[in-house]
Amino acid sequence: MTSVPEEGSVIQWKDGQIIVPDRPIIPYIEGDGIGPDIWRASVRVFDAAVAKAFDGARCVVWFEVLAGKKAKQQTGEWLPADTLEAVRQHKVAIKGPLTTPVGGGIRSLNVTLRQVLDLYACVRPVRYIKGTPSPVRRPELMNVVIFRENTEDVYAGIEWARGTVQAKKLIEFLSRELGRRVRDDSGIGIKPISETCSKRLVRVAIKYALDNGRRSVTLVHKGNIMKFTEGAFRDWGYEVAREEFGDQIHTEDDAPDSPGLLIKDRIADSVFQQVLTRTADYDVFATTNLNGDYLSDACAAQVGGLGLAPGANIGDEVGFFEATHGTAPKYAGKDVINPSSLMLSGVMMFRHMGWTPAADVIENAIERTILEKKVTYDLARLMEGATQVKTSEYADAVIANM
Ligand code: NAP
Repeated sequence: MTSVPEEGSVIQWKDGQIIVPDRPIIPYIEGDGIGPDIWRASVRVFDAAVAKAFDGARCVVWFEVLAGKKAKQQTGEWLPADTLEAVRQHKVAIKGPLTTPVGGGIRSLNVTLRQVLDLYACVRPVRYIKGTPSPVRRPELMNVVIFRENTEDVYAGIEWARGTVQAKKLIEFLSRELGRRVRDDSGIGIKPISETCSKRLVRVAIKYALDNGRRSVTLVHKGNIMKFTEGAFRDWGYEVAREEFGDQIHTEDDAPDSPGLLIKDRIADSVFQQVLTRTADYDVFATTNLNGDYLSDACAAQVGGLGLAPGANIGDEVGFFEATHGTAPKYAGKDVINPSSLMLSGVMMFRHMGWTPAADVIENAIERTILEKKVTYDLARLMEGATQVKTSEYADAVIANM
């Protein structure tokens, strides 16, 4: 890890409010694969936007922390404890994608980061940016924010390979104690969904919807089949809505013109067709981990794809911002990939910090650049008359458009 910058101060939380100094220290992880390409482009855009928005009165003091291949090479560890501590201490951080090392029993670094820092809500806004090519006729109808539970479900990493002692023991236990037969050559994964984690996720989704004047929160689940995990998520979601937000919400059981935020639920498979056929009916989603992962990529595809998909992992105090996509290894180091996903994750980060003018500068400049048809390969291949630019040139164009 590089040492903590001497200039700059730490972001803090007091009485439920974030307190951001004029020169906050923000840890960043470059990431693997295309991570360095998109980080190099994005950090220039972040600095230019902050300078423009605050006329030099504020600036970010960037602090590199290590994870992934760079960390392994420099420290011998994939995810050094120092990195986790730096993020915990500085409260706001941003990262590029990380490769999941294959084999050797190493769990996904992203999943580990989310679990260890208890970043329980993965927040993925999906909104159309004017000028972006899309496979659907009315992409502008898509304007959703997905709150995906981040710590449980089949993502919890509780699984054993076929033939291991643990898998055999579990199969025997299920047969002997619970009378359930599972084939001997099965791998076994466990899907825990708790009341605590479901309720805290739905709680932040409802709070977000109320604070931002949204119309509805849809609980997405597969409760018709998995009653005690997915179905329970739905039930606990309604419970938290009624018990904690009773006078501010209504459900589909109430009269359609009832005031307040509508809380509804939909079965996961039907939501995938509904976001295509009745896009405007959906607003904020609260989902279990796996459903949210699928749904956010599917929604992103309607408005330009993964190159434009930002995200954040939020806990009670720590906010960790990252692009939704992975390391796209075949494009690594080629200066071709679309960095908008990370730039828009920076937009989310600045809004989270209350630096709204900087967020607006970036968002408007990206929109102008796309309207000028100066785009990276992913959008250029879908547009007529586009000027295809490199990752670094795209950053230049965004900065010129501020
Ligand atoms: P991926 O890296 O997301 O890439 C899949 C495809 O999505 C790319 O080939 C490209 O499609 C498109 N794409 C991704 N990012 C793009 C961008 N910025 N601009 C334009 N197009 C973009 O998925 P993957 O290949 O399945 O995963 C690779 C590695 O990333 C794995 O090790 C995985 O574990 C890891 N991963 C990390 C994270 C994370 O750090 N949060 C998330 C997901 C996956 P075209 O080839 O069609 O252009």
